[in-house]
Amino acid sequence: MIQYMNDLPLYWSNPDILLADAKVIEARQTDIGWELRLENAPFYPGGGGQPADRGSICGTTLLGIRKEDGKIFHKLESSGIFTIGDAVQCSVDSDFRRDSMQQHTGQHLLSAALYSEGLDTVSVHLGQEHVGIEVEGAEGVIVPEETVRQVLDRCKLWISENRKVISRYLKPEELDNLNLRRPAAGKSDLVRVVEIEGLDHVGCGGVHLKDTASIGMILYLGSEKIRGRVRLKWLIGGRAVKHAEKLSRQMRQIQKLLSSGPGEIPEKVESLITENQMLNKRVKNLEEKTGRMLAESWLADSEEDQLIVETIQTADGGRECIEAAAGKLISAGAAGCFLLNNNSWIFFAKGRDASFFNDFRTEVLTPFKVKGGGKPPLWRGRIEGETKEILVAVRAWFAIFHHEGA
Ligand SMILES: [Zn+2]
Repeated sequence: MIQYMNDLPLYWSNPDILLADAKVIEARQTDIGWELRLENAPFYPGGGGQPADRGSICGTTLLGIRKEDGKIFHKLESSGIFTIGDAVQCSVDSDFRRDSMQQHTGQHLLSAALYSEGLDTVSVHLGQEHVGIEVEGAEGVIVPEETVRQVLDRCKLWISENRKVISRYLKPEELDNLNLRRPAAGKSDLVRVVEIEGLDHVGCGGVHLKDTASIGMILYLGSEKIRGRVRLKWLIGGRAVKHAEKLSRQMRQIQKLLSSGPGEIPEKVESLITENQMLNKRVKNLEEKTGRMLAESWLADSEEDQLIVETIQTADGGRECIEAAAGKLISAGAAGCFLLNNNSWIFFAKGRDASFFNDFRTEVLTPFKVKGGGKPPLWRGRIEGETKEILVAVRAWFAIFHHEGA
């Protein structure tokens, strides 16, 4: 609990200090090492949606920071010995801290911009991948692209204006005139209020950048529905820059592949999709035609009550060919067929019931990890294994059946 200004932890009073000698004030031994309570440690212990700092103590990687009854313990895997009063050298992971501060400060800026569009921040999630801001006030749980654009434009302006980010410690009665965007939580005698100069006041315990220019860049990733509200996803600071660089690289690759300028890509992709749809349609028609023609030739070469066992190999493994062939055989009154195309099969047996297929499946198809089913007189599915082996097994079974049936 903060009562006086000199109670302030280092990460608040001086967030620039990332290297500091701290004093051990409590040391507990654990299964793997130690939990140390420290005076003057520079590590942010986490909270308010912001993750705890990473870093090291006396060169050993900090495993985590745990809070217990308002006390903060730093977890270490170490075989060393720590005693109360020891001075330990603490080092905060500067890249991680900078990223955390960018995400958190960027989130303040975004929440302020969303607020001015009538969208209240209900909760925030500063994740490893992106920042999620859950908002209230979106009609139909949808935030229009136009609103997102306004929010981003506002943020861009505020970043370019390089507004200061100021932390103050105020008595609860001093908050009344401040028009806080979100009421201050907790019951401390002093409330920490974070201001983005001239545009946003909010009660917050996190660590922040000194100014809005240090946020750099913000990108919108999209939205998702959550608990009847909408969560907007963002990339902030270095993460946004990295993402933009990746997209720029990919765009150059795509331009090269499509031999197009950047402005022509949507049109080019659209025409490729249309062309592809037309080609698929043509292939499907050709496969169906092939299937019907093959069925006719099998019928001409077979006896009236013969079960036809054939394979059709088409390059893409589509079902159209065997479906069309089976359809033709059925309409021509054939006794039955087993047709295979790559991993797809279709089985037809005139006047037979489910037990006939079940016997066939168990005795012939099961060793080939068969999948699928159907109802009399037609069954279909997928199968694994060598085409030749499958056909030999099917033909052998049909020969016995044919012999018994005759
Ligand atoms: Zn904050």
